[in-house]
Amino acid sequence: MVDLPQTGGCLCGAVRYSLADVPIWTALCHCESCRRAASSPMVAWMGFAPDHVAWTGARSYFKSSAHATRSFCPTCGSPMSFESTQWPGEIHLYAASLDHPDSYTPELHCYTEEQLSWLHITDSLPKFSGTADSETIPS
Ligand SMILES: [Zn+2]
Ligand SMILES: [Zn+2]
Repeated sequence: MVDLPQTGGCLCGAVRYSLADVPIWTALCHCESCRRAASSPMVAWMGFAPDHVAWTGARSYFKSSAHATRSFCPTCGSPMSFESTQWPGEIHLYAASLDHPDSYTPELHCYTEEQLSWLHITDSLPKFSGTADSETIPS
């Protein structure tokens, strides 16, 4: 285990963050929106209270849906965060941007109905067809 505060950042180092606490929740998301935003078969998310995340370096923002705003590094393009009016009081960060990503522990899979056919999950974590509030798929 890595001591707090954990730190992370973008590929080029222009955007950095420091976390004041452990995540509120963690999840591996298979939805198409996350897939495209990260150009990755799935995204390892971690949720925080926004005031527990201290940023350095300017980020760029875009609205990825009517509800959601995503930020990224304007220099290297690394995706950095997700915020949505559907989850007020939270900011979602990419666990893969942590300096010590092995310290991350995923709790569940969500949006597995959109999971890529060639991505084979062999862990025993709970799987949800949609959000983690939806029905669990027996594994
Ligand atoms: Zn960067
Ligand atoms: Zn997603």
